[in-house]
Amino acid sequence: MPLLDVVEYLVIKKLASLDEIVKAMYDYFTNSASPSTVARKHGLSKHAVRGYSGRLIEKAGGFHRAVAMVKKVAPIIMELVPSIIERNGSIARCTLCGEKLWNDVAVLTMHIKHRHPNIVERYTNMVINRIRESIRAST
Ligand SMILES: [Zn+2]
Repeated sequence: MPLLDVVEYLVIKKLASLDEIVKAMYDYFTNSASPSTVARKHGLSKHAVRGYSGRLIEKAGGFHRAVAMVKKVAPIIMELVPSIIERNGSIARCTLCGEKLWNDVAVLTMHIKHRHPNIVERYTNMVINRIRESIRAST
């Protein structure tokens, strides 16, 4: 299910304390800013912005669907999902299991995905439920 995949992808980033990626994707898809503008604003590389947005377009099933989903989903994720990694320079630490990690996007993402799948699932469902409630409330 595309919405579930998009939510899960961004929930993992937020749990990994990669808030700048969630914010950058919101900016990219809602303000139709260029990858270089978004990259500069959020301290990412242009290449990274292209990579993350490409993954989201793939998961959503097209650019316009990605716009609709990320616009709705990103603010809810920023509000509901905690950041469980402490990032400090080149080192990071998971506050849930205490493991020390490199402060690297791939390392942090992998840690959350493979070591804490239950937390990912819990918050993904929480966000999906919140979206369903907001749709029900508006009809
Ligand atoms: Zn951990």
